[in-house]
Amino acid sequence: MAAIEKRSRGDWQELDRKHYLHPFTNHKELHVQRARIITRADGVYIYDADGHKMLDGMSGLWCVNAGYGRQELIDAATRQMQELPYYNSFFQCAHPPAIELASIIREVSPAQFNRVFFAGSGSESNDTIVRMVRTYWDLMGQPERHTIISRNNAYHGSTVAAASLSGMKAMHKQSGLPIPGIVHVDQPYWFGSDQSLTPDEFGLVAARSIETKILELGPEKVAAFIGEPIQGAGGVVVPPDSYWPEVQRICDKYGILLISDEVITGFGRLGKWFGADHFKTRPDFMTFAKGVSSGYLPLGGVMVSDRVADVLIDKGGEFYHGYTYSGHPVACAVAIANIKLIQRDKLVERIRDDIGPYLQKKWATLMDHPLVGDTRMVGLMGAFEIVKTKDPLERFDEKQGVGPMCRDNLIASGLCLRAVGDTIICAPPFVLSHSEADELIETTWKALDLTQKALAE
Ligand SMILES: *Cc1c(COP(=O)(O)O)cnc(C)c1O
Repeated sequence: MAAIEKRSRGDWQELDRKHYLHPFTNHKELHVQRARIITRADGVYIYDADGHKMLDGMSGLWCVNAGYGRQELIDAATRQMQELPYYNSFFQCAHPPAIELASIIREVSPAQFNRVFFAGSGSESNDTIVRMVRTYWDLMGQPERHTIISRNNAYHGSTVAAASLSGMKAMHKQSGLPIPGIVHVDQPYWFGSDQSLTPDEFGLVAARSIETKILELGPEKVAAFIGEPIQGAGGVVVPPDSYWPEVQRICDKYGILLISDEVITGFGRLGKWFGADHFKTRPDFMTFAKGVSSGYLPLGGVMVSDRVADVLIDKGGEFYHGYTYSGHPVACAVAIANIKLIQRDKLVERIRDDIGPYLQKKWATLMDHPLVGDTRMVGLMGAFEIVKTKDPLERFDEKQGVGPMCRDNLIASGLCLRAVGDTIICAPPFVLSHSEADELIETTWKALDLTQKALAE
């Protein structure tokens, strides 16, 4: 029995319009334009209901790192569903997939991490961290240490606590956020600044906005700082080299917990297992989700350092927190298979030594296009900035929608990238071949030419 009917694109779009409220979607616009219906995928390609083939330069939503159609992951899920499709880890229970996954993640994580808490998503994981951070300071006898510092334009998820940690003005405005005890400082977005400082000077200034905030609040009130090693949804903001060492220094100086949100950067995207390895920070927590299961099933979690875990365990009593699907056995089995696949095929090393440098070099040549004012890429996580003129530097009015126009041209030309204002971002699957990388760059050129032509008319 087929669970899903065969329907035409038009029928799907009509049903979609009537019944399906999409996440992060302008519903009024969607009702006019209709959804793109994606029906299948293979390798690095996705196909829509008309059979239009597109290279998925975003790995779905930064998650399908192993590529589509991986039989190992499918088999792992099938076997686990047959063996034990569900059981929980509440009330002194556990099952092999969650235990095994926790121990495997520990092996690939920095040395201070020996314990994992599972959740169903990145948002839930960051909610867990808010609870754990505050519980930690309570147990340490410093219950006034409850404020968490985050950054403008950060993305940490969409639940009430995670959206509060996020620094997106539009999200906050809609729902009376942030919740109390969460504050925001500058992001290290040099290209978006007036560029009067060198990137390294600017990185120090951005980091010191954390220190300024700590002193303003009183160090005895500040519990933690949270940051994505490279901001993803905010536009792949690669911080200047000076930034993270200074953030680490500030956290150390005031004894503040450092949270590295590794939901995008975790499990290899930067050519290291975690962003903390790349930037040489020493976080007390790492959030993960997305790439842990290559998106085949929903899974997230929190790596908890010994500094925190030892206190929670020794002094803790019960931690009144958990999700029905914390450590879901099928999701965990898929994640185990995914991590083993990444290890066996040496995909992290491949990003570091092979496809990463290969795509980075080609990506940098986009600078030769008249519309491109900046390019950046670390591992397989990149962006370019669309500008009106390069010298003097002038941007388009964002209301003109040049970024989304370019994105539409990219999709029509067979490449799925994403627009964040006039920043185009890219995060392809780890299995991207050299010829697929060539295609990615050629299609981007084509879409930029189309955009330039449309602007001239
Ligand atoms: C996507 C994302 C999240 C939220 O994860 P969900 O699984 O969508 O809840 C959190 N942090 C970062 C850095 C992300 O990119």
